[in-house]
Amino acid sequence: MATIEEISPAEALRRMGQGSRLVDVREPGEHALGLPEGALPIPRAMLEADPSRVTPDTQAELLLICAGGYRSMLAAQALQARGYTRLASVAGGFDAWRRAGLPEMAGAAEDADFLERYSRHLRLPQVGLEGQRRLAQARVLLVGAGGLGSPAAYYLAAAGVGTLVIADDDVVDRSNLQRQVLHTEARIGLAKVESAATALSALNPRVRLEPHRVRVAVDTVDALLRDVDVVIDGADNFPVRYLLSDACVRHGKPLVYGAVHRFEGQVSVFDAGRRPGEAPCYRCLFPEPPAPEDAPNCAEAGVLGVLPGVIGLLQATEVLKLILGLGQTLSGRLLHFDALAMRFRETRLAPDPECAGCGSRRGQGTATVSDVACAAAPR
Ligand SMILES: [Zn+2]
Repeated sequence: MATIEEISPAEALRRMGQGSRLVDVREPGEHALGLPEGALPIPRAMLEADPSRVTPDTQAELLLICAGGYRSMLAAQALQARGYTRLASVAGGFDAWRRAGLPEMAGAAEDADFLERYSRHLRLPQVGLEGQRRLAQARVLLVGAGGLGSPAAYYLAAAGVGTLVIADDDVVDRSNLQRQVLHTEARIGLAKVESAATALSALNPRVRLEPHRVRVAVDTVDALLRDVDVVIDGADNFPVRYLLSDACVRHGKPLVYGAVHRFEGQVSVFDAGRRPGEAPCYRCLFPEPPAPEDAPNCAEAGVLGVLPGVIGLLQATEVLKLILGLGQTLSGRLLHFDALAMRFRETRLAPDPECAGCGSRRGQGTATVSDVACAAAPR
């Protein structure tokens, strides 16, 4: 097989002037960041599957460009194998094109801030422009702007989730600052939702914030869940946890659960609302709240400061996957994390047909339980 010619961006531009075609083989999300002027945006896989969409003439000269010059070379080799004879790959790709100050055209209708801010997402074929637009349309409810809510909210805002609805009725206390990184020394005494909104809008002014200084309770939960796509459970007490799980089943919303206790944490996705009989709910796992003596208050039990960071970010990861429809979520699996052993282990979870939250005994769940304040369920 003949060696593929490598040419400079300036040489590619010159040959385009003589009628050669330049094909940009990057992914759509990368095209959105801008294109060489006059280039045809056709992702590599699409081009290799059907090069005749550019030209059926195997004698015509085709110049290929990608981001750095590697993928365009592979695409040229694939086209050569298909019988194309006059192929060249642009050395250094679009990065070199841009550095040389050669003419560009806009790739997407989105503004420059959007394209630059999310450029690392746009480069991922699994996210791309479509995925980033989907994130921008998404509404996520965070119950709790504390240990779990802090890292989750920070990263979801950074990633471009369009709207964050945050519910918390607490105020910032100095003892929170060891792990609740949304808050600062200067904001002690302020409502947590207000402190969270300040931090998040400083990070990403594009994100719409809906802070609700309310306690998640029977009379507030339905309104909070309205129109949201995913719910993050960052609650620190069992009554809220059961209430939230039941409401998510009722409204058909996926619930991303997380809990921490001293040096250990757990994460799962409860999706019984959308997949009844297939996916479990929180009550399938823990039918009854533990006795108060088995569930010491976090303030009494203590928690390693970094632990909610780990668990909250696992929750945020699941939220992004749910919005983007990527990979396998933790639905039907409970992930345990042991920080001291630095070990993850996984338990399979099946829906309980008799479950009071999502099964045949549905609606018979204990609606009111005494206010036991801690995060992790007993093991
Ligand atoms: Zn259930």
